[in-house]
Amino acid sequence: MNRIKSALALTDQTRDILVGSHVVPRTGGVFARNFPFQRAVVVADSNTWAVAGRAVAASLRAEGVAMDRPIIYPGQPALSADDGRVRDLRTRLADTSAVACSIAAGSLNDIVKLASHEVGRSYLNVCTAASVDGYTSFGASIAVGGVKRSVPCPAPRAVVVPLDLMAAAPSRMTAAGYGDLAEKVTAGADWILADALGLDPIDPVVWELVHDPVQGALCDPAALARGEIGALGQLAEALVLSGLGMQILRSSRPASGAGHYFSHQWEMEGYGRGWEPPLSHGFKVGLGAVAMCALYEKLLELDLADFDVKARVESWPTPAADAARVRSLQMLPAVQTDALAQSAAKQVPKSEAGLWLEKVKAAWPAARERIAVQVRPAAAMADGLARVGAVSHPSQIGVSPEDFKLKYFQAQTLRSRYTALDLLAQLGLLSETVEGLFAPGGYWFEAAVPAAG
Ligand SMILES: [Zn+2]
Repeated sequence: MNRIKSALALTDQTRDILVGSHVVPRTGGVFARNFPFQRAVVVADSNTWAVAGRAVAASLRAEGVAMDRPIIYPGQPALSADDGRVRDLRTRLADTSAVACSIAAGSLNDIVKLASHEVGRSYLNVCTAASVDGYTSFGASIAVGGVKRSVPCPAPRAVVVPLDLMAAAPSRMTAAGYGDLAEKVTAGADWILADALGLDPIDPVVWELVHDPVQGALCDPAALARGEIGALGQLAEALVLSGLGMQILRSSRPASGAGHYFSHQWEMEGYGRGWEPPLSHGFKVGLGAVAMCALYEKLLELDLADFDVKARVESWPTPAADAARVRSLQMLPAVQTDALAQSAAKQVPKSEAGLWLEKVKAAWPAARERIAVQVRPAAAMADGLARVGAVSHPSQIGVSPEDFKLKYFQAQTLRSRYTALDLLAQLGLLSETVEGLFAPGGYWFEAAVPAAG
């Protein structure tokens, strides 16, 4: 846990993280030292209240913390992190001076994070599953008017990470955390690429915090599926560190790349939102990680030594043509407006395209070597996800090959952040590379659907 300690020296929002088995009874102490003389209100849903509610309340009482009546949301159907829920909690918090002491996994933590911020308070969260890296990140993922957004707001001041509780959570939640962490592999490759092109320099300290623990945390998916505390501790620590890395940089760049955009696309379409349980962030992101590993395999074969820059500049899209392309990919009005702005922000004007492509050509050999060390084969990534019980093939969530292919192109339009999808698009090679993945011999044509169960 030394890594967490060194990370806490660099964060300005989260100041206190307690990780371990059987640490729930110490929640009151963590609360009291971070919010001295303040009232607490326990916020939970009926599931998290059932596993830790009374113990958390007792620990607060033992420290002499004054408490409001707990706020307990129904756990079934699963809580969705939307603006209506945030408004409701904000109203309840505005009626009291109490600081939220939430017992929450992903969605409820996001709701508490934003609602607390809106009433000008921080909060403490007891994490109930190793399912996301969002516990310690800056920003909350909230559906605003039905469209999923990352809303800026501070991370919690204090976090309690009880590993025994996480190990007892439904195994699909650990599998989701594995999926969220798996995308650090491809997000890291995207960051290396952007760094090599001078777009988004790598911060070496944050890189180390976020990426050093990833390999170790992903290496034993079977142990995670069995709920072994040792493996779970590694996963939880890696997820917490990812969040802290994002908190330090005030950017999700270290931990979120194009693999995440596959998930964002489904989230904005509301795909799987009404399922019970809803299709999790980590399941969608894990699949995005496999998708990007497959793409990187093709990308690494690329030799740009003879790439014809002049010919590519000739066919460089005009801003109008690019906007038309984005519009045809993003039919939902709210998504389209955003995607048009994000895509326009990363468009290189034709007058600069020649210089830019020469720069790409020059940087590619060294970038390729660094990326080759970072990524892993798609089949290995899919195997890890399958072993932990996460989604590793689109057919498992009812997505057809045609639909899934489209996701590569849609994902490219969603954010101005530069990824491997942008590199291929600029080279004019995105279509043929993606098509190749779905043609005989390509990864998605050949990939076997994992057996159910
Ligand atoms: Zn994520």
